[in-house]
Amino acid sequence: MLYLGVNRRFPQLSHHNFVFSENSPEEFHAVYDQHRLAPDPTCYVCAPARTEAAVAPPGREALYILVHTPYLRPEHDWKKMFPEYRRVILEKLARTAGLEDLEPAIEVERHLTPEDIGARYAVWNGAIYGIASHGRLQGGFKPANHEPKLKGFYLAGGAAHPGPGMPMVLMSGWIAADRLDRDQIVPKTQGAVG
Ligand SMILES: Cc1cc2nc3c(=O)[nH]c(=O)nc-3n(C[C@H](O)[C@H](O)[C@H](O)COP(=O)(O)OP(=O)(O)OC[C@H]3O[C@@H](n4cnc5c(N)ncnc54)[C@H](O)[C@@H]3O)c2cc1C
Repeated sequence: MLYLGVNRRFPQLSHHNFVFSENSPEEFHAVYDQHRLAPDPTCYVCAPARTEAAVAPPGREALYILVHTPYLRPEHDWKKMFPEYRRVILEKLARTAGLEDLEPAIEVERHLTPEDIGARYAVWNGAIYGIASHGRLQGGFKPANHEPKLKGFYLAGGAAHPGPGMPMVLMSGWIAADRLDRDQIVPKTQGAVG
């Protein structure tokens, strides 16, 4: 993730913007199979001031730029990888999104790599969505919210059923709490409804 505060507007941007890789199978082969950064990344660029002007000072822009990366592997050193990949991303945006003048316009800059995400949120290997839910064995499912063999063990959050993202995470907490309630292993608090 790159978070950029820039000193001008880029009128060609909408609130949500994507620039895609030329060859998405190649991009995903690099990320998922080779565990390396794709040389030609798909980039999501969010320019929220387009919808809500107050998120940036007048005439300026607060940009959020997201690319796919592999989760942390032992051979990854983001201290070295980040500056190189930042350059790849800025060049891609200059080439494909008409953002040639982006870099000189940057006034404030923050970033978040898988290493940062792992360290800051204690997320396993910086993988924000937990274990993969694709493939033959997972069949599209995350781990269940309750494991009947382990009494009193419940899972809620983006790495559990039904999955990541705020709406799903709220549902996950709801399902886990509902299951806990049905299992009746915790006495109801006074005034509880249902
Ligand atoms: C950059 C980024 C952009 C995203 N954009 C979107 C979006 O636009 N829309 C959307 O719906 N979702 C988005 N998501 C996904 C969404 O943020 C996650 O799916 C969601 O936050 C997961 O919720 P959670 O409660 O499982 O985990 P978290 O939100 O990670 O919360 C877990 C908390 O537990 C704390 N913690 C961890 N270990 C311990 C411990 N041992 N002791 C005490 N505390 C601990 C962590 O510090 C953290 O505060 C985004 C995620 C990222 C990283």
